[in-house]
Amino acid sequence: MIRLWAALVCLVLSLSAANASALSALDIMTFADSFQCQDKFPHHSFCEAVEFKPWTEQEKAVVGAYLAKINDPRLQGILKTIQTGGITKIHRVSHSARWFNNPQFRRVEFVRSAEKAFLWVNPVTNVIGVTDSFFTGTPFMDPYAQVDRKQINILHELLHDFDIATNHAFSMEVFEQAAGWGYNGKEAAIVGVDYEQVKAEFKQVMSLMKEKRVAEAYALDREMGRKYGFPTLYAMTNQFEGFAEVIAYAIFDPTAEQYYSKGLQNYLETVFRATYPL
Ligand SMILES: [Zn+2]
Repeated sequence: MIRLWAALVCLVLSLSAANASALSALDIMTFADSFQCQDKFPHHSFCEAVEFKPWTEQEKAVVGAYLAKINDPRLQGILKTIQTGGITKIHRVSHSARWFNNPQFRRVEFVRSAEKAFLWVNPVTNVIGVTDSFFTGTPFMDPYAQVDRKQINILHELLHDFDIATNHAFSMEVFEQAAGWGYNGKEAAIVGVDYEQVKAEFKQVMSLMKEKRVAEAYALDREMGRKYGFPTLYAMTNQFEGFAEVIAYAIFDPTAEQYYSKGLQNYLETVFRATYPL
């Protein structure tokens, strides 16, 4: 009996120890107020395109609250990996940017993009930028996850951060198999579904976006994606986006297990087990 008690006390102690050391994304990320561009790299055109600016206290509080809620025990290994080998600074920017090669000056240059992303990870410059749209964009409560989609977006971007830090170790072969990515004779696609139909449906989402019917676009993206066993149609457009979407919704959408395939569910277990404990 004493032994049982000792075991129980041990268990309780180790559980509380685990809780005390549980990381949230707020613990590992820092808010950076400036960024230095160079003649060579990252070229000045990057700073001109995205327009870095200092954070206000209010913006830090808003983004900080979302980061603090990224603290699921299943994410501990992923957060630790970002902490030790990933991008840990978050910058405040006005815009998004695209990069291109300038052969004349033999350097990578950047140009502002019209894209209204809430936030982005630039794998070329290793910068995470939170744009003005994040604060001005239409709020949208996810009907299944019961959180604001901005919450899911932030985790989605951190998963790109993790993916870069691990050199795509979890978004290539294992993920391709689980999600059904393959070559359909024409392009990389999810095999076993009518991929032309999927692309046509995603086009509808994009045209709603263009018409600024953002909430409708998001709802359609979710509804159609779920029918195929994915969180969104967007998750079906490319495997790296799929990787980020599948994990982000597994964390925030408690109904995900109702529509994720067995393959995806096994894949998630593998990723969480492989990353934690490190
Ligand atoms: Zn993405």
